[in-house]
Amino acid sequence: MSESTALDPPACLGVIGGGQLGRMFVLAAHAQGYRTVVLTEHPDGPAAQVAGEVIIAPSDCPPGGHMPTLRTLAERAEAVTLEFENISAPGVRWLERRVPVRPGWQSVWIAQNRIREKSFLSRNNFPVPFWRPIRNAVELAAAAELLSGSGILKTAASGYDGRGQVRVERASELAGAWEALNRVPCVVEAVVAFSVEVSCIVARGGEGATAVYPLFWNQHRRHILDVTVCPAPVGPSVTRKAQELARRVAEAVGLVGLLTVEFFVTEEGELLINELAPRPHNSGHLTIEAAETSQFAQQVRTLCGQPLGSTSLRRPAAMVNLLGDLWTDSGPPDWTAAHAVEPSAAIHLYGKPQARPGRKMGHLTILDDDPLAAASRAIAAREALSRDRTG
Ligand code: AMP
Repeated sequence: MSESTALDPPACLGVIGGGQLGRMFVLAAHAQGYRTVVLTEHPDGPAAQVAGEVIIAPSDCPPGGHMPTLRTLAERAEAVTLEFENISAPGVRWLERRVPVRPGWQSVWIAQNRIREKSFLSRNNFPVPFWRPIRNAVELAAAAELLSGSGILKTAASGYDGRGQVRVERASELAGAWEALNRVPCVVEAVVAFSVEVSCIVARGGEGATAVYPLFWNQHRRHILDVTVCPAPVGPSVTRKAQELARRVAEAVGLVGLLTVEFFVTEEGELLINELAPRPHNSGHLTIEAAETSQFAQQVRTLCGQPLGSTSLRRPAAMVNLLGDLWTDSGPPDWTAAHAVEPSAAIHLYGKPQARPGRKMGHLTILDDDPLAAASRAIAAREALSRDRTG
C-alpha cells in the first residue's frame, strides 16, 4: 500500500495486543467491512473473542518481540496497528519493512520509556513538569540537588495506572524511594499542583492532515481513570492551546494514527504534558456514542489511509469506568438496576473472564446537553450497579 492509496474493505487489518482497546478497534473495523487478525497471548481475551482470526504469541515473550508470530501477522494482515506501547520496538520496526504499521516504531520507542519521552518533549520545547533521569548514583545526587519540594519517582519502563511510582515529600527521601524501586532506571518529576487533568486525542493521516477531538476532563481514583467529561470545562483558550500542542507533538513524532496527550492544567491555565500514548485512550471511549467519528473508527481510517472523520461531538457526554471492584463473590453487578436508573446508558463490557479490584472490566457512557449533568447521571447509574449489595 503506498501512502496515497487507501486500503479498502474487505482488507485484513492486524492488531498487536488483545485487550479492550484492541477489541473496540476490531468492532469498529468490522463495522466498516474490514477483516481482522489479532496477535495476543490470550486466546480468549477481549480482542480475541471478537477477532476474525487470532495468532497466539507465546506467553513467555511479549507480543511484538517474537519473530515467527510477527511473520505470520505480516502474511495475514495488509496493515497493522497497536493497542499498547509496551511491545518490542525493534519487532515493530521489523514488521514495518513488510507491511504498513501505524503508529510506527519511533512513536512506540518514545512512548514506552519515560526518559526517552521526556527527553523528546524537552528537546522539542514542549512544556513538561520539572524532571530528571535517575539511572545511577551520580544522576540521583544531581536530581536530589535540583528537586525543590515534593516529587514523584516513576520507573522509566512498564509503568501504567500509577504502578511503579513512589511519592517523596522532600529530596532527601529520593535515595530510599529509588531503593524501593530496585534502583531500576527512573525519572523524578516535581509534583504539579494542578487544578484539573485533561487529555487530547489527535488523529494524523499519512498526508499529514490532522483532526483533533474536543478536550476530555479526567478524574482519577487510586491512579486509575474514574470519570471523563467531554468537552472539558476549561474554556476556549486552554482548549485551543492543548489541541495545538497535541497536533504539534504528533507532527514532531511524525506519527500516523492516533496520539493521546495527557496534560496537567494549573490554576493559571498553564498546560504541562504528563504523558503520551500513540493510540486510542480510555478517556476517548465516550466518542463511540458522543462523536461523529469514534476514536476507533478514526484509528481504522488512519490505518487504511482513508480521509479522517469529523471529530465534532454529536452531544456532550461523560464516561465512568467499571472496575472489577463492582463484581463480588456472588457475581457480576446488577445490570438491570443501572438500566432502570438510566435507560439511555451505554454499557460496554470487555469480556474479561475474571474480575479483580482495579481491573478495567467495562465502561458506561451517558450523553447530556450539560456535560456535568452527564457525569452525575453516569456516576448514579454506576452506583445503582452495586446498591442492592451495599444496602
Ligand atoms: P501517570 O502514570 O504518569 O499518568 O500518573 C498517574 C496519575 O498520577 C496522573 O494522572 C496524576 O493524577 C498523578 N500524577 C502523575 N505525575 C504527577 C505529577 N508530576 N504531579 C502531580 N500528579 C501526578
